[in-house]
Amino acid sequence: MKYVVLGSSASVPTRRRHCSSARLSCDSENALVDCGPRTARQLHRFGQALERISLVWLSHLHGDHCWGLPTVIRRLERIGGEHTLRIYANHSTIDRVKTMLKALLKLKQLRSTTVKPHVAEHGIFHQTKWFTWRTFPLMHRVPTHGLIVQERQPRGRKIVYVSDTMMFDGLIEACDHADLIVCESTAQARYAKLVRSFKHMTATQAAQLARRSKARRLVLTHISHLARASAIEREAREIFPNTVVAEDFSVFTVHDRHPPAHA
Ligand SMILES: [Zn+2]
Ligand SMILES: [Zn+2]
Repeated sequence: MKYVVLGSSASVPTRRRHCSSARLSCDSENALVDCGPRTARQLHRFGQALERISLVWLSHLHGDHCWGLPTVIRRLERIGGEHTLRIYANHSTIDRVKTMLKALLKLKQLRSTTVKPHVAEHGIFHQTKWFTWRTFPLMHRVPTHGLIVQERQPRGRKIVYVSDTMMFDGLIEACDHADLIVCESTAQARYAKLVRSFKHMTATQAAQLARRSKARRLVLTHISHLARASAIEREAREIFPNTVVAEDFSVFTVHDRHPPAHA
């Protein structure tokens, strides 16, 4: 399982950080996990072929998590050839995606690409031979979901993406024994009041979540343009040492826990 961060900033991008998106590869599936503005360009800069993306999962309809989708589709059209893109998200986000697709159709900008929007509100929405893809509800200003991708075997590998949310106890169960938690961490604890008012999380809360859920590794993302990444990392490491702050193009690999005996 390979998780490539394409954008690690909160809603205001900076020179070094783009808005939320990542590419998750596991099994034969290559997915975009959120699709903030400039996701297509970030994929290109990282040398990843856009036409290999088959699935897009969106956490919620805030622009910093999904406004890159029209460009992804337009670029696929320009590449040409038959291509199918499955899009999974909650009701409100899929409604918005459908409106966008109607506009593209009207403008005759949707010819060779087949886009299939699916509502994924709660629980398993996709399974391959080896992996299960699940969503779970978060607590943000609009309906928002998190993502769990887990190997289909006892104690199989598990990656959890905690998108925009405030801290709540349900997160601990979702992240239980994860190999990797990619968690929003908008700012340091000293801004806790402000962070909470926008229904986001602090570095301290993300680290407490990783510790309480007995996770192996924590990656912090969705970093505010006003926050200092080094301070965020220091704060989280005091609680959960195996923490890093994601940079754009950081790569995180979760290796097989049960390598074959002959390997
Ligand atoms: Zn956001
Ligand atoms: Zn948001």
